[in-house]
Amino acid sequence: MYYPRLLTPLDLGFTQLKNRVLMGSMHTNLEEAKNGFKRLASFYALRAEGGVGLIVTGGISPNVEGKLAPNRALMTSSNDVKDHQLITQAVHNVEGKICMQILHAGRYAYQKQIVAPSPLQSPIIPLTPRELSSVEVEQQISDFVNTAVLAQDAGYDGVEIMGSEGYLINQFIVKTTNHRQDEWGGSYQNRIRFAVEIVKQTRLRVGKNFIIIFRLSMLDLVDNGSSLEEVIMLAKAMELAGATIINTGIGWHESRVPTIASMVPPGTYASISQYVKSEIALPIVASNRINTPEVAENILENDWADMISMARPLLADSHFVVKAKNNKAEEINTCIGCNQACLDHIFLNKVATCLVNPFAAREEELALHPTNKPKHIAVVGAGPAGMAFSLYAAQRGHHVQLFEAEDSIGGQFNLAKRIPGKEDFYQTLRYFRNQLAKHKVKVHLNTLVDAAKLTAFDEVVIATGTKANLPDIGGIEHPSVVSYGDILTGKKLAGNNVAIIGAGGIAFDVAEYITNTVKPVDANAFAEHWGIDLKLRSNGGLKPVSYEEPIRNVFMLQRKIRKSGADLGKTTGWIHRTSLKNKKVSMLAGVDYEKIDAQGLHINIRKKPRVLNVDTIILCAGQVENDLYSQGLEPEKCHVIGGAHLAKGIDAQKAIEEAALLAIRI
Ligand code: FAD
Ligand code: SF4
Repeated sequence: MYYPRLLTPLDLGFTQLKNRVLMGSMHTNLEEAKNGFKRLASFYALRAEGGVGLIVTGGISPNVEGKLAPNRALMTSSNDVKDHQLITQAVHNVEGKICMQILHAGRYAYQKQIVAPSPLQSPIIPLTPRELSSVEVEQQISDFVNTAVLAQDAGYDGVEIMGSEGYLINQFIVKTTNHRQDEWGGSYQNRIRFAVEIVKQTRLRVGKNFIIIFRLSMLDLVDNGSSLEEVIMLAKAMELAGATIINTGIGWHESRVPTIASMVPPGTYASISQYVKSEIALPIVASNRINTPEVAENILENDWADMISMARPLLADSHFVVKAKNNKAEEINTCIGCNQACLDHIFLNKVATCLVNPFAAREEELALHPTNKPKHIAVVGAGPAGMAFSLYAAQRGHHVQLFEAEDSIGGQFNLAKRIPGKEDFYQTLRYFRNQLAKHKVKVHLNTLVDAAKLTAFDEVVIATGTKANLPDIGGIEHPSVVSYGDILTGKKLAGNNVAIIGAGGIAFDVAEYITNTVKPVDANAFAEHWGIDLKLRSNGGLKPVSYEEPIRNVFMLQRKIRKSGADLGKTTGWIHRTSLKNKKVSMLAGVDYEKIDAQGLHINIRKKPRVLNVDTIILCAGQVENDLYSQGLEPEKCHVIGGAHLAKGIDAQKAIEEAALLAIRI
């Protein structure tokens, strides 16, 4: 067996899990969409078929007050059970196991009926919660229990009680958010009573043979969060109350420390679970940024946990477990931690999917059916759009030839992979390289294809990406002006004083690249940099940070008068801004560019002239389409995708999604 610990069954006494992989809870927005439960049934069934030991659904609220937003799904009566039966039957039909998560948002609710242990507003929600009366606290507990019983009626194998990430239960546990004077506040025993009662009363109602997972916040990452001693006390109380499994929660949503984004080195937080594991007999699940079977196996080998929670990695690849089992880990489509199509979509009220797998959570709508008319297809450009299209078309049975001007596939991903914190982009390149070979796509590297030769193909797909936009500034030809590509490939070196023209995603990445001092793949260096105490010696696991002096002075400039990086993802933009602020990068908005000369960059900021005495000016001023071929080809058989089709706003998610949609219909 290739990952012997990960793939060993786990005996829970009354039931057995086929391996140690728990698919962590992810809200997809399908819960509230049209035909959502049918679509969720297919989504979960595919993951069960792919070998996951135990699935946990997205959070379902136990009552109206507990909803995260007005439209969010509830389970409060037998009327709600039928929909969920679609899910449980589909998963059980393929011999999977599934638990339903019960989530009460407490003060994280973005709706009028927001409640909490105390009337204290959270820094991330513009609403102040109403304090629950003692009677209402009891009611919340009954509502949790009622929902658990209904989940059992719906055929779930168990429930997960969401006790972490700063939601209601966590708000009761931590002193900062619980100022109550009654039996639900004050001492630690009183503050955990809410959590304990929920689990105890649930166990009484559901009987012995039903899984109860308690998601326990092991590292709150907020000031005055729980101490290690308290975390252990709570775990012991949960064991007594009747929990079956303890899952690890890391960080409250209001925490200002990255917990799952791409810059978190894989497995960083897993060691925290060992402190609970050594104190109780229940199986412990490690969590957060565990995205390869190697990292997972290593955590189990270190004896830090008994199971591994992976959520986004199973969006990225439904068959992660089967591939690991069959010694085909190199075929796993690895989650790169970008959050772009999953969490960011949730914040935009869109259905979650995955940047590297646009079919995720769209199992009912998008499928690559075998073609009955195989065609000869030429694809020009092997960036994300070209690689993805070639693979998907070949999977359908078309004969695909992929022409790339450079000496390797990947396009702009070959620049992105060099950015500290984006090392996982190498995994995407590895995935496509292996898959293109497996599906017999003929790849021609170092090839600037002759347009006349393209006419011989049945269809031509132009995926030649973008060219950097050259802004109209006097002196733009000055030797101090360089492209971001030259900096990232090391062809040119940045001096000590740098201006970056542009403040979009690439500008942020370039600024990170030229200011970086942290060894990104090292969990300890990452923890030092962000002030995380991975041994939980301080309450909540935060510690003071002392920033090193920046290695160069950097200005980041934009014409628009707005926050720099305003278009960055909702769940990651704040991290990029904080990181650069800590490195003293000056972000200037409302900039008009005057000229460039030996003195530096002459600008006006809101009509006030200023000279930035910089020795390097890096252009990140947008991109334009690089479509060289489509003019000369018959329009019916020529398709332009990715940045070559529309440069404005292009990113890898759009490029890969366009590729998928074209491959389905070609
Ligand atoms: P490209 O990636 O530009 O690929 C085009 C390919 O066509 C290239 O390989 C090129 O060599 C080839 N080509 C061009 N002309 C010819 C020709 N005549 N013949 C043969 N081949 C040709 N996006 C995200 O979504 N998330 C991120 O985190 C992210 N980070 C980024 C970080 C950096 C530093 C950069 C530079 C980009 C980042 N992007 C990110 C953007 C993303 O990589 C691009 O949007 C995406 O690569 C566009 O894909 P594409 O296939 O359309 O074009
Ligand atoms: Fe992972 Fe990004 Fe896909 Fe989300 S969108 S699952 S973070 S690769």
